[in-house]
Amino acid sequence: MVILGPPGAGKGTQAERFAEDHGLLKISTGDILREAVESGAELGQLAKVIMDKGGLVSDEIMIGIVRDRLARTDAKPGVVLDGFPRTVAQAVALDEILEDRDDLFVIDLVVSEEELVRRLSARRVCGQCGATYPSAGLNGNCERCGGKLVQRSDDCESIVRERLKVYARDTQPLLHHYCGRLNFASIDGSQSPEVVGCELRAIIESKATELSLEGTEKESPQ
Ligand code: AMP
Repeated sequence: MVILGPPGAGKGTQAERFAEDHGLLKISTGDILREAVESGAELGQLAKVIMDKGGLVSDEIMIGIVRDRLARTDAKPGVVLDGFPRTVAQAVALDEILEDRDDLFVIDLVVSEEELVRRLSARRVCGQCGATYPSAGLNGNCERCGGKLVQRSDDCESIVRERLKVYARDTQPLLHHYCGRLNFASIDGSQSPEVVGCELRAIIESKATELSLEGTEKESPQ
């Protein structure tokens, strides 16, 4: 499954919950890049400059990362992708990587720009374990590990505006790539994470049932 949507739409939260509930692997390309930055890897040094400006890392690099990650054994039961694809070239590459593109569910989370800027300015992440929170809370510490909550360097307002511009220019055209497909659906992402999660589950379950019925019809002789 691919979860699309602008920065701050809730892709990471929904991807994590859905993957956990269904025993799937979550792959967040943003997390992979941030880990590379932390470890001081060459990829991280290159990516940091781009991420700090709110731009996109090259398609070639991102497609290579996702292709390698999807080839590993732990990806076989299924994967929830958060932050990939972000360009039409990445979406085309993903179709080529998948054995059957009809197996791909695509969910678009829709949220107004005003709400996105509000959410991203308030968002904090744990400097130790990377957990994400809608705000700094009362004591500014992580509930999971006690680490200090900090603002992501690309969540300040000027960079957020740039990321939203980049989203409109490079990522929104993806909707045309996917919107005619049977397994595409939009959800109002301005609702609470719980309500979005329920809608997401209901959509996937009903589409999966449709698919399995179609499969049975194809298999059974007339
Ligand atoms: P995210 O955590 O998904 O908001 O990603 C943080 C940053 O990582 C983005 O603003 C981009 O600079 C970079 N990034 C993540 N995923 C991709 C991708 N699929 N293509 C290009 N750049 C990406």
